[in-house]
Amino acid sequence: MIDIDHIINTFRNGKLPSEESLVQLIERGHKEDVERVCEAARKVCEERFGHRVWLRGLVEVWSRCEGGCFYCGLRAENGALDRYEMSEGEIVGACREAYRLGLRTFVLQGGQVHGRDKVVERIVRTLKEEFPDAAITLSLGEQPREVYELWRKAGADRYLLRHETASEEHYRRLHPERMDYHHRRECLGWLKELGYWVGAGMMVGSPWQRAEDLVADLRYLRELRPEMVGIGPFMPQSDTPLGEWPRGSVERTLLVVALVRLMLPNAMIPATTALASADGENGTLRGVLAGANVVMPNVTPQRYRSRYAIYDNKKSNGSEAAEGVDRLRADLQTIGYEIYWGK
Ligand code: SAM
Repeated sequence: MIDIDHIINTFRNGKLPSEESLVQLIERGHKEDVERVCEAARKVCEERFGHRVWLRGLVEVWSRCEGGCFYCGLRAENGALDRYEMSEGEIVGACREAYRLGLRTFVLQGGQVHGRDKVVERIVRTLKEEFPDAAITLSLGEQPREVYELWRKAGADRYLLRHETASEEHYRRLHPERMDYHHRRECLGWLKELGYWVGAGMMVGSPWQRAEDLVADLRYLRELRPEMVGIGPFMPQSDTPLGEWPRGSVERTLLVVALVRLMLPNAMIPATTALASADGENGTLRGVLAGANVVMPNVTPQRYRSRYAIYDNKKSNGSEAAEGVDRLRADLQTIGYEIYWGK
């Protein structure tokens, strides 16, 4: 028997429940257990944030990547991907459009490439000057400490760099030899030292992942105390070495979102695109009902969206960003939530 109340109360008292109880809960994945944990997480979230969801405008700035993550369609070895790189003007233009829609955080995300230090620095400076009331989040992979520092000095506020998995052995199976588990963590440490708001996170249901690995993720997140945590199901991408694996379970993803919310009540946790993609129309709302409090509307120009193919069937919401935000507002209303327009 799993004592769900005990697990929830242990989290609420600031402690981590036993490994054994968490592994059991995750492995069993009983619908009723998941619902109870989600309900408790939702309550914690409502106590901190009310019935509100924060928005971040996501700009997928380029699909070039030097990384080799076995699960990701952007990996350098994927010759089937039609690569693009937005110009400085296009990136600033997309943020302008996001601002016009009312969004006050811009997330510039792209593959891990070197040699963009100065371009990104200029873009950050331009955006900060034009929109001093907006926050800028970067998500451009592992970079030298000096580059993170340069971008921070230019005005970047936040950085998303998922740790991907807290188990070293699991990390090695998901990445080629040139990518290093310890280095990724080192990068997260640098980002913290430099005063960024840091976002870590992981996929749920990635190949070879065991419940014990997810518990290791919880332990690591508890230690790191990131301001943001991104959690989405693994989604296969047919041009990658892991393209034949099944996608991660939506229910397990919701359970992990809820556990992270219980553990880190103040964190900003997005209902991710992967969750929305895995669960048709409902994923975003189900994420919010499991304790997520952020949604990231895609404000990348339409012509690039399908080319940021990190996994198959990625929801890119064929509609204009404005239309997407309107629909989101209406959807959130159906569960009694509203958009918070601040940064
Ligand atoms: N290159 C940057 C980095 O390494 O952090 C940011 C872009 S990367 C595409 C953003 C996130 O997408 C990764 O951290 C990973 O967790 C997620 N991702 C990549 N491939 C995925 C897949 N097949 N299914 C689900 N999520 C995936």
